[in-house]
Amino acid sequence: VSHELKTPIGALQLLAEALLDATDLPEPKPDDEQSEDLIAARRFAERIHHESARMGRLVNELLELTRLQGAEPLPSPEPVAMDWVVAEVVDRTRTTASAKRIEVRYEGPRGATVFGSESQIATAVTNLVENAIAYSPEDTTVLLALHQDDDWIELDVTDQGIGIAAHDLDRIFERFYRADRARSRATGGTGLGLAIVKHIATNHGGRVEVASTVGDGSTFTLRLPGRSLELGGSQPE
Ligand code: ADP
Repeated sequence: VSHELKTPIGALQLLAEALLDATDLPEPKPDDEQSEDLIAARRFAERIHHESARMGRLVNELLELTRLQGAEPLPSPEPVAMDWVVAEVVDRTRTTASAKRIEVRYEGPRGATVFGSESQIATAVTNLVENAIAYSPEDTTVLLALHQDDDWIELDVTDQGIGIAAHDLDRIFERFYRADRARSRATGGTGLGLAIVKHIATNHGGRVEVASTVGDGSTFTLRLPGRSLELGGSQPE
């Protein structure tokens, strides 16, 4: 299924790029009908490019969610260095953060280890930080704070963003649920990011929680095992 879905989407993206190149006008001449047609064609090509990229993200995230929902078992848990996870996430989100002059900062001990899947934990933290950036104004800070006790590690991702109303808090972890549809579409999100985070947390025997105040910002807390636990499959929503 993965291959069947990804192949035509990849082709559409390449075709849209070719169309963009083909309609790349040096200097549009005013009142020239032919160049007006080309300008319109270029606008449509941009839309196709944009929408096919969006469809690509959607398919990738749906496939990821399907995998997490038990289609494939969690790979055997291994020690994962949180220093690596934080550095990786900061790296992945650098471009979007700097476009809004948002600083992504870490506070906490070095050398913490959790048990699970390195790639899944990096995905979960990336999704939380991407949201924190997407739902925050420019010139703010996203803080990653790590707390550790005997058996658990908690990572708080705190933003100074728009916050989430109390009646949405229970629902934002559902697939495709958005507190503000128009805004979420504008950020290019798929509505699957938090559902993925929730499944990753559950797959690790942990959980994800949120506290938020509208206008002040949100804190998402990811709780993961700090030692090797018996891991079960994911729970249905
Ligand atoms: P999306 O792709 O729409 O961001 P998510 O599953 O990642 O989907 O998030 C679901 C919804 O939760 C978002 O549409 C948004 O309304 C809300 N949300 C998530 N993270 C934040 C945040 N840090 N601040 C404010 N709202 C958020």
